[in-house]
Amino acid sequence: MARLEVHQFPMRSDNYGVLLHDPATEATASIDAPDAEELFAALHEKGWVLTHILITHHHHDHTAGNTIVKRMTGCTIIGPAKEAGSIPGIDVTVEDGDTVEIGSVKGKVIETPGHTRGHVSYSFPDDKLVFVGDTLFSVGCGKLLEGDAKMMWSSLEKLAKLPPDTKLYCGHEYTNNNCRFALTVEPENAALQARAAEAAKLAEKGEPALPTTIAQELATNPFLRPTSPAIQKRLGMEGRELSEIFGEIRKRKDRF
Ligand code: ZN
Ligand code: FE
Repeated sequence: MARLEVHQFPMRSDNYGVLLHDPATEATASIDAPDAEELFAALHEKGWVLTHILITHHHHDHTAGNTIVKRMTGCTIIGPAKEAGSIPGIDVTVEDGDTVEIGSVKGKVIETPGHTRGHVSYSFPDDKLVFVGDTLFSVGCGKLLEGDAKMMWSSLEKLAKLPPDTKLYCGHEYTNNNCRFALTVEPENAALQARAAEAAKLAEKGEPALPTTIAQELATNPFLRPTSPAIQKRLGMEGRELSEIFGEIRKRKDRF
């Protein structure tokens, strides 16, 4: 039974903010806090009072609002234990498998390192929602700034195992650009062609291509598809380790 209300809104230049609200208890959580002012505007619009911030990773574009928002609301800031030292105002540290509670709704912490060494995602299995920060984007994935391909690939494998109809929310919107790259890796993928057409249309209208779903990403996202025979053939990597194939796709995207 779905219980959380979700409100997604654009922040900064290309971040997305997400608010989670439990109507039963009035508890409200923000996924990351890219910008205090824009976060307050979204809370005001919804008439919700912030109780928690769930931090995915330490980067400034995800934590810049922490200090002011905490001072103004007294909210509890939850974030990855492995990055606690670089997350302003952190109150509660979490690790893989820990439970977070937003009012009456329970979420699960999934460690998804690779973009940063301590990056976590938050999954709400009853509501079939997952918030992945900068680990996975629609038709893309985060840059390997602190981890390597092997580390990121095992993080992506964890997300890929969530129920296919799980809604996936990301820290940024790069879908349209990501599709242009993905089509160079797997041009014959009909699901990707359709997603690219949809993303181009949405971008033209200034509308988000998010959230996506696990199923849609499994069908279209080259970073989740190193098993694809077409991709393996194009890269000349038939039968190689999946993490190596993933790593090659990541390298090509870095140069794209
Ligand atoms: Zn980041
Ligand atoms: Fe980011």
